[in-house]
Formats: sequence, C-alpha cells, structure tokens
Amino acid sequence: AWNNSLKNGVPFQYESRLMRSDGEFRWHLTHAEPFKDTNGEVLYWMGINTDIHDQKMQLTSLRNNEIYFRNLSEETPFIVWKSDRQGRCMYLNKKWTEVTGLALKDSLGYGFKQALIIDDPEAYRQNWVKAVENRSHYQSKFQIKIPDGGARWVFCQANPHYDHTVFDGYIGSVVDITEQELYTRAVRDLSERKDEFLSIASHELKTPLTSIKASVQLIGRTVKHDEKASLFATKAAEQLVRLETLIADLLDVSKINAGRLVYNETEFNFKDMLFDVVQSIQNHTRSHQVIIEHSAEVIYFGDRFRLEQVVYNYLSNAIKYSPGADKVLLSSYLKDNYLVVSCRDFGIGIQPENLNKAFERYYRVDDSEMRFQGLGLGLFISAEIIKRHKGIYWIESEPGSGSTFFFSLPLSNGSDEDALSGSSLSAKETQSTSR
Ligand code: ADP
Repeated sequence: AWNNSLKNGVPFQYESRLMRSDGEFRWHLTHAEPFKDTNGEVLYWMGINTDIHDQKMQLTSLRNNEIYFRNLSEETPFIVWKSDRQGRCMYLNKKWTEVTGLALKDSLGYGFKQALIIDDPEAYRQNWVKAVENRSHYQSKFQIKIPDGGARWVFCQANPHYDHTVFDGYIGSVVDITEQELYTRAVRDLSERKDEFLSIASHELKTPLTSIKASVQLIGRTVKHDEKASLFATKAAEQLVRLETLIADLLDVSKINAGRLVYNETEFNFKDMLFDVVQSIQNHTRSHQVIIEHSAEVIYFGDRFRLEQVVYNYLSNAIKYSPGADKVLLSSYLKDNYLVVSCRDFGIGIQPENLNKAFERYYRVDDSEMRFQGLGLGLFISAEIIKRHKGIYWIESEPGSGSTFFFSLPLSNGSDEDALSGSSLSAKETQSTSR
C-alpha cells in the first residue's frame, strides 16, 4: 500500500498494531497525505497515527455477537422472522424454508404471503397494519402451506423491536400448533354434536311425556277410590314431574347454547314471586321447612318465570344438598340499588376450590360417599338467567356446615338506560316475614 501511494502520489491508509511504551500492541490507523509542488511532484508526506484499538475491539465483539445470534436463530426449531419499520419481512430463518419449501429470496418483502392460508385476508392485513402503527404486540393464527400439498396450523407472535429508542420493525416467531388446533376443533365439534343430540333428544322426549302425564292424571282420577292404586298414580305423577324438570333443563341448555332462550319481561311483585316458589316447593317437600327470613317489597321488571326458575333451583339444591338438615333460609333485601336474594342451607357445603365451578355447565362435585342425583345444569341455567338480567351471583360456603347462594339484580333509579336494562321500577323494603 505504501509503495502504491509513493508511486501514484495518492493518500495512504493502513491499520496496524503498534507497540506502546508499556509493551502492549494496540491497533492504530495510519493516514498519510502527500504534499505536492506546482508540477504535481510529491515534496513530502505528512502522516497521523490514531489509536483505534477500543473502537476496533468493540466492533469485533459486535460482529461476533451478531454471528452468534444469527446462528442461534438459524438453529431455532421454530420459524423466526424480522420485519422492517414499514412491516415488510426482511429476515426469515432456515426453518421457514424447511417448512414451506419457499426460497428466502422469494419470501422476503411480502413474498411470504404466498404460503399463508387465511380466512379473512383483509382482517389479517388490518390487524398487522394496526399493530405496526401502534407498535403493539402482534399475534394471529392461520395455516401455512407445506410442500406435500397439505397445510399446518401455526401461531404467529411478534414484538416491536427498538434500536435504543428508535423503532426498528418487529421480531416474531411462528410456532406449529396443528396438533392442539385439531384437538380443540375435534372437541368443539363433538361438543356441538352432543348439544345437537341433547336438543333433539329432549324435544323428542317431551311429546310422549306430555301424553303420559295426561294419562297418569286420568288414571289417578279413575282410581281415586282405590287407595293403593291411587298411591301408585300419585308416585308416578311425582316422578313424571321430575322427568319433566330434567327434560326442561336439557331443552333450556340447548336454547342457551344456540342463543335462543326467550325472555318475556314484565313488571311483577318480587315478594309474591318468592312466596309462590316457596309454596310450590313446599307442596312436595316434607323434609325441610323453607323460611323466608326477610323479603324486600319490590316491583321488579324482568322475566318472572325465569327468575322463579332461579329461586326454585337455589331452593331445591339447598334441600337436596342438606340431607341431614330440616330448614332452608331465604332472604331478599335491598343493598346499594341492588336487589339481593340469598338462600342458606345447613348441608354438605362446597370446598373452596369448587366454588367457582358450581355455575359451570355439567359441573357436579364428584363425591364418592354421597350420591346426589342431577345433571349439573340447574346452576348453569340460573347463571345465564341472572346474567341476562344484568345481575351477578356468588356463593359463600363452609364444607360440612352449609352454603349460602346469592344473586343480586340491579334496580333502576328511573333512568331510561336502567329501564332498558331490565330492572325494577320502584323498590321499598318491608318488614321481614316468616312462613
Ligand atoms: P345438579 O344439582 O343437578 O347436580 P346444579 O347445576 O344445580 O346441578 O349444581 C351444580 C353442582 O353444584 C351440584 O352438583 C353440587 O355439586 C353443587 N351444589 C349446588 N348447590 C349446592 C348446595 N346448596 N350445597 C352444596 N353443593 C351444591
């Protein structure tokens, strides 16, 4: 290089290690400029040696780091990608080519899209554009085509990357979730088929049941002078009521699943409603006394029949799950513009870890010692009805001592919004009554 500069009179530049006085070799940049006379002949050279050791070391370590991380990314068992600031793909690791069979050069920019199978491409695009605009976390699920003509389900996630404080595109991953996705879809499919089957089966059962019920009533009347036959007819009628309730629950659940549970909202006296339910339950319950401890005088706007169903369910559970007790306490009161109903029993109670599950569909506590009959649907239906009335529900329970089931419904203060949301038009508390 020096010979070349001497020969051609051009500036000289060279990096070399020079030994410092303490014996350490340090990188220096030598730069020399020729000074020429008017004829262009070099008169002399003026040079500077600059210590660039620290910068050079930093650069080398950066380069080594980059190589290290690039290798790491290349060997990662899932797809890794990087986008530029505009959202165009500028890097894909080799897993991408392995999975899709697409060459890197054909996939950069927006080329990768040729491998994607997306139900709603416009929504997909918007989702990405929005994430890039807001620099927010990005995620989506779609399929990618594979070379044998098939497809794999993948989950794609990305985070914005900042070079110090400057946004520098996204770094993302694409993970194969085919097995989980197929499993989830199979479960959903089976569950839909089960719901459909239950819906058809309960419909089909309802018609013969209605005619059996009518016949049993007729038989009851015909044999009313025969004490023994009359007893059988009464027993049969009682079991038919149970069967009818089970079928009605199944029908309600299929309607809830299909979003077709119809609500007929009217204004009604809430206290009367509670009293009617208690009377109806007491007609066929001798083991327990249902005591209304406190009853709020409320004219409520909602679906009386469905709310009766909730109270009936709370009460019948309270009786069923307290075989050793003889009473159940029912209360309704006003609190913070809410109408609260509570149903307290002195039965088996519920373990804390099961409290949240009781309102789930088909949930039943698996208790090997005691076997209670039921389908695990009553509370699920109740929860739907309460939610529909914009209410909430909860349980307080002590295993072995009993449970209190609550629900509370919002009361209106007369505003249009509240009237629409299905709450009471007027409310006043009255003295407690016991029955
Ligand atoms: P079912 O009573 O038909 O099983 P529910 O939906 O009414 O269905 O109740 C779901 C589950 O919640 C019940 O199986 C029972 O385990 C639990 N549960 C409900 N009410 C009570 C109660 N009062 N005391 C204890 N456990 C209860």
